[in-house]
Amino acid sequence: MTSSPESVDCVVIGAGVVGLALARAMARKGREVLILEAEEAFGSITSARNSEVIHAGIYYPHGSLKERLCIEGRDKIYAFCHAYGVTYKRTTKVVFAADDSEVAGLKKLQAHAADSGVYMTYLQASEAKKLEPNLVCAAALLSPLTGIIDSHGFMLAILGDAEAHGAVIAYNSPVVSGEAADDGVIIHAGGPAPMSLKAKTVINCAGLSAQNISRSIRGVGAPSIPPQHYAKGNYFYLSGKAPFSRLIYPLPGAHSLGLHYTLDLAGQGRFGPDVEWVEKINYDVNEARGPSFYAAIRKYWPDLPDDALRPGYSGIRPKIQAKGEPTRDFMIQTEHETGVKGYAALYGIESPGLTSSLAIADYVAERL
Ligand SMILES: Cc1cc2nc3c(=O)[nH]c(=O)nc-3n(C[C@H](O)[C@H](O)[C@H](O)COP(=O)(O)OP(=O)(O)OC[C@H]3O[C@@H](n4cnc5c(N)ncnc54)[C@H](O)[C@@H]3O)c2cc1C
Repeated sequence: MTSSPESVDCVVIGAGVVGLALARAMARKGREVLILEAEEAFGSITSARNSEVIHAGIYYPHGSLKERLCIEGRDKIYAFCHAYGVTYKRTTKVVFAADDSEVAGLKKLQAHAADSGVYMTYLQASEAKKLEPNLVCAAALLSPLTGIIDSHGFMLAILGDAEAHGAVIAYNSPVVSGEAADDGVIIHAGGPAPMSLKAKTVINCAGLSAQNISRSIRGVGAPSIPPQHYAKGNYFYLSGKAPFSRLIYPLPGAHSLGLHYTLDLAGQGRFGPDVEWVEKINYDVNEARGPSFYAAIRKYWPDLPDDALRPGYSGIRPKIQAKGEPTRDFMIQTEHETGVKGYAALYGIESPGLTSSLAIADYVAERL
């Protein structure tokens, strides 16, 4: 490490979709931005391990950041895709009640979403069957604003625009520690070309590592750092012909949106993610979960053939609540909460973080 740190205006830690969006937002405000990324490529962690769904914003508690930023982010992402030629598809989505006991929950979800300003059409079982002949359900909702996106292409376009506004990215540059300084924050990065930087503004967008980084920066108030928990989501790919043309979701569970069917832009169908609380980060797909996938899927697609599922991939949700605790909102802290002048940190940016990314960026950039 060098002894006298180089001065920079703004450092963004982490080049996932949120860090890239923030770097772009800050660069567009005329700030000089350096992105420090631990890996050798951008967007290779949680931003590469999700369902690539643009969520409409139907689930989140009223008044929460998730509600507000998902809805704003959804509109911003569609506009961005048009403006920058990013591939997406407005697939629409069907949320279903598996049996009569779930119909009240479905109606409640419809009313909740409408209160958020997101409207869905109620479908009787026969109407749902017309749309999706393979779906067995008691009733359903059609969400017209849901879509899928080429998330890598999206991140590439964000990075390109950030760079066009002067942002610079340094790969293989893991932030290892830092400290509060009188007029900013000093950050030390390791890797093959270690560096020390003094920045007026540092924004921690390190996803699953955000808490570790805050803990390593001297001066950040320990009580401000939330707990870190990991909830893995396993995906299984479907072999054979796609059974549905829309995204198909059961009613949401406490920590996930239920074991749903999505497809990528190439038409590859997949089921998941499930929820598996883990102590350590490990992306091996838990094949032992296969039987529970067959059982859950056959409740709404009884014709799922034996041996049609194969292990796909997994992602890990950066949870700030433990198993069994109520779901928490995105946690976005600026210097008022972190206790270090110029230091902002984002925690618990789980789903709908991809959808919300551009809105999170504008929200944070406005507050800095
Ligand atoms: C299973 C699953 C499914 C999901 N599905 C959806 C969905 O369909 N739609 C949706 O809207 N959202 C979805 N999400 C949520 C979405 O994927 C995340 O909210 C989003 O990708 C978070 O982006 P990020 O930039 O905060 O984090 P990340 O993508 O994890 O980026 C953090 C970056 O920080 C870097 N980093 C870590 N430590 C350091 C360090 N010390 N120094 C420098 N860099 C560091 C990492 O290498 C990484 O590149 C899903 C999430 C999961 C887990």
